Amino acid sequence: MARILVVEDEAKIARFIELELLHEGYEVDKAEDGRAGLELALAHDYDLILLDIMLPQISGMEVLRRLRREKTTPVILLTARDAVMDKVAGLDAGADDYITKPFAIEELLARIRVAFKRQNLPANAQTATDALVSHGVSLDVDRHEVSVDGEPVELTNREFEILHALMANHDIVQTRDKLASEALGYDYIGESNVIDVYIRQLRSKIDDRFGIKLITTVRGVGYVIRD
Ligand code: CA
Repeated sequence: MARILVVEDEAKIARFIELELLHEGYEVDKAEDGRAGLELALAHDYDLILLDIMLPQISGMEVLRRLRREKTTPVILLTARDAVMDKVAGLDAGADDYITKPFAIEELLARIRVAFKRQNLPANAQTATDALVSHGVSLDVDRHEVSVDGEPVELTNREFEILHALMANHDIVQTRDKLASEALGYDYIGESNVIDVYIRQLRSKIDDRFGIKLITTVRGVGYVIRD
């Protein structure tokens, strides 16, 4: 039976989530602040952690960072509405997903199922592929490396996935929703501003730094890489 840790300081919300999870057949532990949450998360091998960002003692983001130094336990962040930078920072810090409060319990349960499914995917048995190249930018999927004219570029996982989706679909305009669902692995519909944040980061690391125009904005639609 899957065991889930709920780190949430608002007792009513924590209790509500706990009851629903128990009803679904999950085992549940609860922590009311970041410190207690981190201690439990490190002491036990949970199958999943639901982690509120705004927590007393240690923030959810800091709990996530410290947890990631030691463990790969899947984490779904509970974030406040419209906290776009929180979401981006959370994903970059190693969260697997996030859900915006207030949420419908059905949506949370669906996200949990997706997280479990992702975790149980068989190891990638794909064969070696050639690097994708455009405008002097080379993206090697197998080695998870990006370079411009031979100079390595450090990207976060999410930045890499978005660049990969754009380069693999050369000349085909990618809508924000498509980029989100393909590159981020789940449905971000209505959250396209997150994609804009990642595109800005990619442009600063590649376009601006190397003086090239790699990613083109298609107004009102999305993004494309053209020659
Ligand atoms: Ca809170």
